[in-house]
Amino acid sequence: MKLAERMSRIGTESAFEVLARARALEAQGKSIIHLEIGQPDFPTPQHIKEAGKRAIDEGWTGYGPTGGFPEFRDAIAEYISRTRGIRVSGANVCVVPGGKPIMYFLMTALLEAGDEVIYPNPGFPIYESLVDFLGATRVPMPLVEERGFSFDLATFEKALSPKTKLVILNSPGNPTGGVIPKDDLKRIADLVRGRDLIVLSDEIYSRIFYEAEPESITQFDGMLEKTVILDGFSKTYSMTGWRLGYGVFPLWLATAVERLMVNSNSCTASFTQRAGLAALQGPQDDVDVMVKEFRRRRDAIVAGLNTIPGFRCSTPAGAFYAFPNITGTGMSSKALEELLMTEAGVSCLSGTAFGEYGDGYLRFSYANSLENIEEALARIRRVSARWT
Ligand code: PLP
Repeated sequence: MKLAERMSRIGTESAFEVLARARALEAQGKSIIHLEIGQPDFPTPQHIKEAGKRAIDEGWTGYGPTGGFPEFRDAIAEYISRTRGIRVSGANVCVVPGGKPIMYFLMTALLEAGDEVIYPNPGFPIYESLVDFLGATRVPMPLVEERGFSFDLATFEKALSPKTKLVILNSPGNPTGGVIPKDDLKRIADLVRGRDLIVLSDEIYSRIFYEAEPESITQFDGMLEKTVILDGFSKTYSMTGWRLGYGVFPLWLATAVERLMVNSNSCTASFTQRAGLAALQGPQDDVDVMVKEFRRRRDAIVAGLNTIPGFRCSTPAGAFYAFPNITGTGMSSKALEELLMTEAGVSCLSGTAFGEYGDGYLRFSYANSLENIEEALARIRRVSARWT
């Protein structure tokens, strides 16, 4: 028995593979500092945990409506309307188990063979994986280090074609930490407004920023009708394992995604949604504390990486990743990832885990203590004699 042909086209997220490899080395007694996985190292805030526990005790343990509980959808719509300066209602919202399913459902609902998808590269690997899986055509958009890892807009304009069905934006971005400036978003909106395409705006890191607050393309004229916002609770509220995310859609797409939800998950866990409601409506201090701590670590890791021979690291404006250019070491990203893992005991990701234009870079997640970050930097400095 063979797997379906389409399974030969689906990719993966190699952070999970590198993590498994690091754990295997640890099991053999090696000391590894984990700077590979993209999840906040903070506990879920106490009042959110309490709300989840209370919900279980109160009996929020059965099936709920496919697209989420109405009260929760309304609260999400209110939050998105307030933070993005737009007007959406609960009917536009579909709650799903994490941010990732929004990619899967939206792309499954939209894409056919031959449709072109423009997406950031280096970018979240699942975009490219799903384009291939669904038989659509990749149109990778190189991110430009000198532009704070945004697109070159002339290149973007040239990439648009009558076959472009989907444009994916991710700001603040993984793996670069780049934030797309408002002027660029406006220009992108001007370029796509008259076209028959959808924009997927992945805003999962919307609350983790260090300079100007990231903007959403939905604020520009005519964009709300053709944009899907992806957001969720994993990063903002340190809730990766709760599996809670959502999309904000034009109504016709919300209906399609609900149809895929009923065919797959039926609904998102009921008590998880109650915890999500507490997250949105409760105090936001824990988010502020987390972002403040991320800022300290960002400053430390960027400064430290810039002292490593052959490394050049720009300062990311959002998310919790540093993405140094390592071409000065003369090594490939993959070889350096391997060397740092085996010789330095530092687990990070090759930029190529995020696409071909990630070559020449490494991704370090600074979701680890300042102490561990400092130790990782010292270890990298020690092995740097290997390439100097
Ligand atoms: N979008 C981006 C850019 C991400 O980096 C991630 C997680 O790493 C997600 C979406 C998915 O988040 P979730 O864990 O909620 O599925």
